[in-house]
Amino acid sequence: MNRETTFWASLPEHWRIARTLRRLQIYFYPLKCKGVWECYEACPVGCWMPDRAGHKAIFREGERCIACGACVLQCPEDAIELR
Ligand code: SF4
Ligand code: SF4
Repeated sequence: MNRETTFWASLPEHWRIARTLRRLQIYFYPLKCKGVWECYEACPVGCWMPDRAGHKAIFREGERCIACGACVLQCPEDAIELR
């Protein structure tokens, strides 16, 4: 199979994944957050801000989220869910 054929053959699967990801949302539980900033460091599109005075993360720019799951995986306090 050449590259172009492989691309077209894989397109339905890409669309299925994209449709699923679009429905996922971040749920942030600030009471669990200990302000370690792993989410801030991990997010590739800048959805998290450190509130250094309050020792909490702030989730903002949620519309930018690409549902990559990096913040969920990095958070040591289970303060973030993607569902
Ligand atoms: S799921 Fe990915 S893009 Fe969305 S907030 Fe977390 S790290 Fe950022
Ligand atoms: S990684 Fe988790 S505990 Fe650390 S600042 Fe982000 S949400 Fe809070």
